[in-house]
Amino acid sequence: MSIKEQSGAETNALATDKERTFKEQEAVMTKIYKDGFPAYVESLGISVDPREYQDNIYTAGSGILLSEKEFDDMIEEVKRNHNVEELKNSGLCFMCMDERTKAEPGVFTSHEGCGAVGIWVGTPEGAAYCEKNSLDPNDVDAVAKHWSKARAEKLGMKYKHLEVDKPDYHYGRAFYYLVINQFNYKALKGLPPGFTVSRKSFHSRSSRKQQRRS
Ligand SMILES: [Zn+2]
Repeated sequence: MSIKEQSGAETNALATDKERTFKEQEAVMTKIYKDGFPAYVESLGISVDPREYQDNIYTAGSGILLSEKEFDDMIEEVKRNHNVEELKNSGLCFMCMDERTKAEPGVFTSHEGCGAVGIWVGTPEGAAYCEKNSLDPNDVDAVAKHWSKARAEKLGMKYKHLEVDKPDYHYGRAFYYLVINQFNYKALKGLPPGFTVSRKSFHSRSSRKQQRRS
């Protein structure tokens, strides 16, 4: 993630904002820690409408940390679970597990300040990719755009680089590890914001790696 220079006043305002957001979530997190997640969800008394779940595939950096083989395996697994044409036309979209972004159906996305891309540029694979494509490894957004656009083209999907809702800090408090095709915690009022990984779309070895890197 790129570090922006901030004045003292801006830094203080940010710290206060972050503190306030965390405090707002504290009551929810206390209940979850005390009673467990299933009991908490039940206590919300909400009914789940699957039509509200956009069918997203969530991976760190839209899959940038996967090897070529792991990425192709994931696509095969996705195709087993979904209508292939949905990859190109409808509700299915690829995005980072970072939940601060808003996805559009049928789009392969990257997002600004992606931590996964920041990790990748420091790996031998990432460094080699940057060198081969004349990219500055410090320019994480440029690398994210280049890699994701190429993936989108390969899949025949549209591509979009997204701005994050709150670029200065991450307010996620939960990790949603999905073993079902579709889920969107935002469709269930009362669930804490967090990271999501589409476990169902991975070979077990890849999904453990995703979890370790979050
Ligand atoms: Zn990201």
